[in-house]
Amino acid sequence: MKIPKEIKRLCPYCKKHTTHKVSASKKRAPSSLAHASKYRAKLRGKGRGCGNRGKYGSKPAITKWKMTGKKSSKKTDFRYECKECKKTHMQSSGIRAKKVEFT
Ligand SMILES: [Zn+2]
Repeated sequence: MKIPKEIKRLCPYCKKHTTHKVSASKKRAPSSLAHASKYRAKLRGKGRGCGNRGKYGSKPAITKWKMTGKKSSKKTDFRYECKECKKTHMQSSGIRAKKVEFT
């Protein structure tokens, strides 16, 4: 889906329609420290020990038979910055989209 960089929208602070700057919410990358502790947790949990670790059995691993992680689209999460009062407000409800482009 394509979204214009600037859009006319109702500003809840000015209580009128003003030009807004549209931006997507920032997604923070996981830090290397968190990654290292996750790796250690993996070693402690699934990486060793007895059992077949969900490989064979009465049921296959949960990711094989349940719809886990199947969604390919994400809900948009835009921030709107009012050009008049410079205040930012969020989108009330996101729309499902695979890819978001700012034009
Ligand atoms: Zn405003």
